[in-house]
Amino acid sequence: MTPEYDIAVIGGGLVGTAIAYGLAKTGQRVALLDEDDRARRASVANFSLIWVQTKGLGMPEYSDWSRGAADLWPAFRDEIAALTEIDLAFTRPGGFHLCLSEAELEARASHLARINAQPTMTPLPYEILGHNAVREMMPDIGPEVVGASYCPLDGQCNSMRLFWGLHTAFGRAGGHYLSNHRVETLVASAGGFLARTDAGPIAAGKVVIAAGNDSQRLAPMVGLNAQVRPQRGQVLVTERMKPFLHYPTITVRQADEGSVMLGDSIEEGNPSLTVGTDVLAKMADRAMRMFPGLGNVNIVRTWSAQRVMTRDGCPVYDESREHPGAFIANCHSGVTLAPRHAQTLAPLIAASRVSTELPVFGTGRFDVSTVH
Ligand SMILES: Cc1cc2nc3c(=O)[nH]c(=O)nc-3n(C[C@H](O)[C@H](O)[C@H](O)COP(=O)(O)OP(=O)(O)OC[C@H]3O[C@@H](n4cnc5c(N)ncnc54)[C@H](O)[C@@H]3O)c2cc1C
Repeated sequence: MTPEYDIAVIGGGLVGTAIAYGLAKTGQRVALLDEDDRARRASVANFSLIWVQTKGLGMPEYSDWSRGAADLWPAFRDEIAALTEIDLAFTRPGGFHLCLSEAELEARASHLARINAQPTMTPLPYEILGHNAVREMMPDIGPEVVGASYCPLDGQCNSMRLFWGLHTAFGRAGGHYLSNHRVETLVASAGGFLARTDAGPIAAGKVVIAAGNDSQRLAPMVGLNAQVRPQRGQVLVTERMKPFLHYPTITVRQADEGSVMLGDSIEEGNPSLTVGTDVLAKMADRAMRMFPGLGNVNIVRTWSAQRVMTRDGCPVYDESREHPGAFIANCHSGVTLAPRHAQTLAPLIAASRVSTELPVFGTGRFDVSTVH
């Protein structure tokens, strides 16, 4: 029997939807299988940074991959706007990582120096700036800001509009979004794969597992190894303010509509989605020391979400050796990498060339027998 779809992508978060959109553009018949509106998605709870600095320690290719993604962003923004009329609010003025003590600044400088010292690293352009140099670019910083790292490659967007834009673009490119289709089991069958979902079976010639943290459960069903874990992050959002912050920083950024996001904690081993006032208080305190003007505004929203964290923090893209045609795609920076997933990864999946073209991101790196 010929499957109804050439490819089924499992997971309608930022990663799965970007890939599904890219696949639909190549002319594939694509089904995007997703849970319902109650799903726990990292994609609707993130910080909206397009971030290059700090990527690539231990894997310089990840720095190149992220940098390439950031370079693709302007054309990607225009493509989504032309297709959907949705403005992704992309800007790329460069980004800051602010430090509140000499020790923090030294640690920051040493971290970036280590990244650039790697033999195959394309040097990352960055500067370590003292207080006065930072204040020239961001006049509203407080006296406790000792300095910062600045990288001109960094940027930001409105990630809720990215999510909406990708889903709309996918539909306009001819893709079929199937909500309420949580995949319970996945089996290789003659001529492809069968996904058993809440709403009945879906057959497809190929399958892409991009189900966030549930990839860990689904991947072994087709001979793949996901190696992802949930990592909790909390975010605070203020009421809208007059524009004052023209550069994103890694923990404080002003959204295009005026609210200021304060983030985002890194918490291991806490699977709940509750918010904790102890963590939020620390985040708010640091943000006010960075930008004292924030002390006079109201917090209007807080949330927590689970990141999809791979074992080494770098993306995982691979095709199953046991069941060719089954792919996995998981990463921690689905906002930053969205254009890469739509424009580079999707055509490689369509052509079954992921393992040959992107071997560095394969799951083989987690195989203990290959670790020396
Ligand atoms: C606090 C926080 C801040 C972040 N900040 C940034 C940032 O500034 N920049 C950046 O680039 N990234 C950031 N990220 C990371 C980014 O949000 C994620 O990389 C991205 O959202 C992951 O997308 P995903 O599609 O893999 O996962 P998810 O968004 O979790 O989506 C998974 C999807 O799979 C579906 N699904 C799950 N199981 C099944 C199943 N069995 N069958 C069918 N469907 C299923 C779910 O319904 C969901 O739609 C941040 C994340 C967090 C939590």
